Amino acid sequence: MHDRFGRSIRYLRLSVTPACSMRCVYCRPVGIGHHSLSDLMSPPEIEQVVRHLVESVGLIKVRLTGGEPTARGDILQIVRRIAGIRGIQDLAMTTNGLTLQRLAKPLREAGLRRVNISLDSLDPKRFADMTGVDGLERVKQGIDAALQAGFDPVKLNTVVIRGQNDQELPDLMYFAADKGLEIRFIELMPMGPLANRWEQRYVSADEMRRTIAPHVLVSEHLVRDASSARRVRAVLQDGRIVEYGFITPMSCPFCDLCDRIRIAADGSLFPCLMDRPRANLMSAIRPRFDPDAFDAILFDALQSKQEEHPSTGFIPMIQIGG
Ligand code: SAM
Repeated sequence: MHDRFGRSIRYLRLSVTPACSMRCVYCRPVGIGHHSLSDLMSPPEIEQVVRHLVESVGLIKVRLTGGEPTARGDILQIVRRIAGIRGIQDLAMTTNGLTLQRLAKPLREAGLRRVNISLDSLDPKRFADMTGVDGLERVKQGIDAALQAGFDPVKLNTVVIRGQNDQELPDLMYFAADKGLEIRFIELMPMGPLANRWEQRYVSADEMRRTIAPHVLVSEHLVRDASSARRVRAVLQDGRIVEYGFITPMSCPFCDLCDRIRIAADGSLFPCLMDRPRANLMSAIRPRFDPDAFDAILFDALQSKQEEHPSTGFIPMIQIGG
């Protein structure tokens, strides 16, 4: 199944819940609604959807996201069910890291292969200001737990916001080097609470490179694969080695390589992160899974996928899954 521009689907980003334990300044608006668990797909329903996508469109990769995916009490069951599906070559999660000290090992044992952990600051006060939670130490412990559990690689995600953490990139890079993590600096997207102040708060990857440059002795660009990051391996001024990358949805979109769809646990289907939901799949999932109805909804929605993402987002990322 292709879209109008010949792109196929290999990668599902599945938002398992819109609930989140953080209130990041760029992500979560005040007063966002809550779903009851019965509105969200159950682990068997999620398994059915993923299994079908493997068979019908050749899906090979799933990332669990949210909201905060570990906010769901049945997350281990969800991971176990997806990990058991033949054909899924990569099962990853994006998490804020707050629960990893407790959950890293069980998640790994359940079959999760990789984690990306959001980390916007190493300064406890700035971290609390940006995320709404006094939780830096807990996240750092979560990062250590993820490494101990054997996740490889463990990647860090940092959204760069002018006037908040834009001068912290070198510190974050040294931290990543020390821990053997790959870090990705993400351009702020005009969606969510900062959308109407986006121009003032956005920092381009070029500007980030200039901030980092004095700390980099030698660098080598890594081959661009289907992932969204432009990756670099570098020797830092003090001899430490790090891999870092820039995720550049705004300055240099990677829509030509997009092989993703996004489905939220309430059945909303987003062919593009910045577009509105183009359909809801729940009528094909409940009361009984109907593969033909599912494919018809998916095909229709996919035809609405534009060549490039819209210039502004439709709803905050917390409701889609970044
Ligand atoms: N709760 C998890 C976490 O904190 O990683 C997963 C969900 S979160 C929506 C996924 C990613 O989206 C995070 O790395 C977050 O920083 C990023 N994100 C959210 N809003 C964004 C925005 N407006 N621009 C760029 N990245 C954003």
